[in-house]
Amino acid sequence: MDGWKGRIDHWLEKEREKREKVAARETEKQKRRREKEEAEKLTEHQRRFHCCVCGKPSPGPFMGLTGVPISDWPGWVDEPGPHWRIPTGGLKKCSQCGQWACEEHIHKGICQNCAKRLC
Ligand SMILES: [Zn+2]
Ligand SMILES: [Zn+2]
Repeated sequence: MDGWKGRIDHWLEKEREKREKVAARETEKQKRRREKEEAEKLTEHQRRFHCCVCGKPSPGPFMGLTGVPISDWPGWVDEPGPHWRIPTGGLKKCSQCGQWACEEHIHKGICQNCAKRLC
């Protein structure tokens, strides 16, 4: 092979490696950004969905599939998860105060806090 052709090959090879390195760095950056976003979403989700009696948070968003009915959610879930607006871990919405409570602290749709106010 002529020397000059070899130079081109060599240069092209180096350019390709450079591009791959940049792409890999970009992918890594995006991955970290996504992870950070997910963590923030989870924090926000747990701040919103936790037991109003003991404070136990939802472990994460509902990962439902098409057409899965949610007993304590008005309506149906039409798309696969994650559904950040739907809690998991047995949290149910209290029919009296509208707050969420875990299985231990809700009975027939009424949370322990509201039970104290019943007469
Ligand atoms: Zn609880
Ligand atoms: Zn309540």
